[in-house]
Amino acid sequence: MIPIIYLVSIGAGLIVGSFLNVVVLRFNTGWTLQGRSRCLSCSHQLSWLELVPVVSFLWQRGHCRHCGSQISSQYITVELVTALVFGFIAWRAVTDIGLEWFELVRTVVWTWAVASTLVVIAAYDLKHKIIPDQLVYLFMALSALSGFVLNFDFGIAEIVWLVHGLYSGGLLFLAFWALWYFSAGRLMGFGDAKLVFGLGLWLGLKDALIGVMLAFILGAVVGLGLIALRRSKNLPKGWRLLSLKSEIPFAPFLVTGAFISFILNLGDVLAG
Ligand SMILES: [Zn+2]
Repeated sequence: MIPIIYLVSIGAGLIVGSFLNVVVLRFNTGWTLQGRSRCLSCSHQLSWLELVPVVSFLWQRGHCRHCGSQISSQYITVELVTALVFGFIAWRAVTDIGLEWFELVRTVVWTWAVASTLVVIAAYDLKHKIIPDQLVYLFMALSALSGFVLNFDFGIAEIVWLVHGLYSGGLLFLAFWALWYFSAGRLMGFGDAKLVFGLGLWLGLKDALIGVMLAFILGAVVGLGLIALRRSKNLPKGWRLLSLKSEIPFAPFLVTGAFISFILNLGDVLAG
């Protein structure tokens, strides 16, 4: 039974991922989420075959079949990342001993929804250098509801859980707000402060704090890597352009750090 869960998770991740791509592309651009996808260069409406996640990208070798222009690697990246994320979420729920079937499915599907908003936030920040308020508020709302949905109850324990989440998110928000305020927005964006509030709500103080620390470590490694790349002259053009960008969006690191902390349950592991 277990391998089927992973196959279904990865399949669902690929399909949801291709929808998330549309959200990243069209959100706040005046386009609606309805209507079939088109090639961004020649406006050719894409057929069913051209919309199959990952496969169509590989089959067309990353180019539009009609005008030959290059398709953004965002598509295949978001699809693969979402599939991976969905698979790991299923793995964490399966290895969480004591969950009954109904609880397992509820936990997995709910966490997929929470993680999907995070994937969109990370990809949107990477692409547009901003975290839209509506997306981060949606993430906060889902996080705030998590305890009630996962426990399937509305009692004292869930209220305590929510209060702890608000307190955790509040502390992280204050720290990031200070980074934003005193660096005049150079070190951190205000959107990052709102995002860590949501992460605190979702994970609680310990796991969220570990996630944030991982984000800083990842950010430092990538940042140093980009500085090294900038010095090197024998690089392909795309890479050089990437390394010349001074402003690195931080949401992808926060999301990655928080997800690793969540999946590996690092708060509990490190506490022994
Ligand atoms: Zn085209």
